[in-house]
Amino acid sequence: MHASRTIRNVANAVNLSTPLGLTLALAGHGRIRRLRGLWIAERVRLPLLNASAMTVGSVVLVPGRTLAEAEVGIPGLLAHEDEHAWQWAACLGLPFLPLYFLAVGWSQLRCGDRASANAFERQAGLALGGYRENPKRPLGSSPQLWRRRAERAACRCVRILRKRFTSRGL
Ligand SMILES: [Zn+2]
Repeated sequence: MHASRTIRNVANAVNLSTPLGLTLALAGHGRIRRLRGLWIAERVRLPLLNASAMTVGSVVLVPGRTLAEAEVGIPGLLAHEDEHAWQWAACLGLPFLPLYFLAVGWSQLRCGDRASANAFERQAGLALGGYRENPKRPLGSSPQLWRRRAERAACRCVRILRKRFTSRGL
């Protein structure tokens, strides 16, 4: 393993993001192994986890299947998630979360999806992560237009959360 990766992993351990990732992996009954300087937690079962994979610190959580199974459809997935591990270190750990969700909101407003205009996903590689890039919508100048877009994005988030919780009987 490269020395730089070791430093990143120590940083993510100290900033508590990797302990958080391992806690989520254990809570979701994931099978945990090491691969290329990352912790890989496979077949994780967690509510609200609906991505192909999610990285927390230096821990890659793969919901419901193995990494190899996820990589069949998205061959660049591990390289993409490795970039997210760097982003956690660059954000000094937990500040990654609010910054990431701000970026998701911005992307929803600009492109109608969570990744196309999300600086974190773009830096990690949209294609590597299995994302298709949607074009940016014109900015528009009226505050009413922005308000409508923000309301639509918020409604979409609520719908997704409601579906997640009701499908699990919570
Ligand atoms: Zn990503």
